[in-house]
Amino acid sequence: MKIRFWGARGSLPTPLSNKNYEQKIRAILEKASNADLSTPLLRENFIQELPFTERFLVGGNTACIEIRADNKILILDMGSGLVELGNYINRYEQNDLPLDFHLFISHSHWDHIVGFPFFKPAFLPQNTLTFYTPFSDFKERLEYQQDFRFFPISLNHIAAKKNFITLKPNAEYQLDDIVIQNIKQYHPGGSYGYKISYGGKSLVYATDSEYKNLRNNFLDKHRAFFEGTDLLIFDAQYTMEEALHKEDWGHSTAMQGVDFAISSGVKKLALFHHDPDNDDYRIYSILRRAIEYKRTNYPTSPLEILIAREDLILTL
Ligand SMILES: [Zn+2]
Ligand SMILES: [Zn+2]
Repeated sequence: MKIRFWGARGSLPTPLSNKNYEQKIRAILEKASNADLSTPLLRENFIQELPFTERFLVGGNTACIEIRADNKILILDMGSGLVELGNYINRYEQNDLPLDFHLFISHSHWDHIVGFPFFKPAFLPQNTLTFYTPFSDFKERLEYQQDFRFFPISLNHIAAKKNFITLKPNAEYQLDDIVIQNIKQYHPGGSYGYKISYGGKSLVYATDSEYKNLRNNFLDKHRAFFEGTDLLIFDAQYTMEEALHKEDWGHSTAMQGVDFAISSGVKKLALFHHDPDNDDYRIYSILRRAIEYKRTNYPTSPLEILIAREDLILTL
């Protein structure tokens, strides 16, 4: 399975500010002032060795992840990152042949569907889009998003063939050799997590989910869902302090991700759904604190923790 992140931000698309851009330039120049940059190779090495906050952008696009498995294109959520994915496919992969897209939707909050009206492959009649979600009125929700009061082109005018499949909640769905399980999560309006398994590997996408001990077995159910997965993509929008003040807002923390990942034997934890108020430096400090938390509480754990960012590609 090949996984590519096209949007890792939560709540609202968040472009890089001039202030943050300058901050990065200053930090790079500071490091460059003592470096030998006299040849193209030395300059390239210098770039490759820059720390995370200067080498990368977390990116401002909201939730969208592409998965390639079994010669299929699966997409998790249609946040603003879907626009870039569509542009990429349009430029490099689309030709006269039809393409099939399998879109798995966690829920219909704006940050998870806002990219769809701008998804270029949807405007080509040879393509097929299949939407999967346990929300049985999902088509209606998309039509509503594209009502003329909010958007100039209605869903009916989108040329690609559209199929809507209502998944049974907390159940399993088979797409040839790919198995997709879903789990109901605690979130305002409801949301679903997905576990995608193929070729002996699996990933879990668990965003827009708050973990409170609502019922005795609530946390156990989630732990069982995460059990042994190779990659857990986890809602890490809040710090512990913020989470205390934002009960019932429907999100969780990096530390909860670490606890879940370790008790479920997860191999890699990707912190996801970054708060739009957090710049790259703050998101990186959340990662450092999560790593420190793991070191203190689970010193022998081999868990790898990383930041989900745009253009990050992982292979399972
Ligand atoms: Zn969200
Ligand atoms: Zn949400």
